Amino acid sequence: MPRKAFISSYRQCPDCKTVLFDPKRELSQLSVKTSCCGSFGKARIIWPSIIVHKYLELVNNLDPNSEDDQKISVVFLSSAFEMMLEDILWELLFKHTPSPLLADSIMDSFHGKERRIKLFDSISDNKFSEITKDDKEFTERWNEITFLRNRVAHGDYFVSSKKYNEVESIDYLYDNCLKYFSKIENEVQSQKAFYK
Ligand SMILES: [Zn+2]
Repeated sequence: MPRKAFISSYRQCPDCKTVLFDPKRELSQLSVKTSCCGSFGKARIIWPSIIVHKYLELVNNLDPNSEDDQKISVVFLSSAFEMMLEDILWELLFKHTPSPLLADSIMDSFHGKERRIKLFDSISDNKFSEITKDDKEFTERWNEITFLRNRVAHGDYFVSSKKYNEVESIDYLYDNCLKYFSKIENEVQSQKAFYK
């Protein structure tokens, strides 16, 4: 089976850092102005990061009918989401401190998805649950695959999740993750920095 590359349809504005959905790749032409602030003439930033692209590409190349591949998908998807959460949290931390050392030390003290969302809530203008309130299904499915990922990490066999079918969850999360995280990213980008 030929490998399928994963290419995100999102690009980040080089000036105001808004993440834009660009399914027709119009923004690859630098003369096209961005819809956020009218930026033009500068290369648009690939979003999300290349490492997240790689994780999503790996999921894309796995066989949804193989139980082993489902387990690997759960691990890679969880890692991709945690990495996107971490990238967004860095942006938020840098709105509060210009010190990379301080940001680093705060990030190191908050490990794991739940603690990082708590950290997010403690410094963001709007809480994580408020920003994602229209995407409850994504959040619930994400919580369930996090639970499954932890079971896989502890060597347990796959168990059917409580509410959702895991194969459907993998598809759903894969298809909707960039929309979900771009909304959080843009909310953070719109918040004012406390210094400057
Ligand atoms: Zn812009």
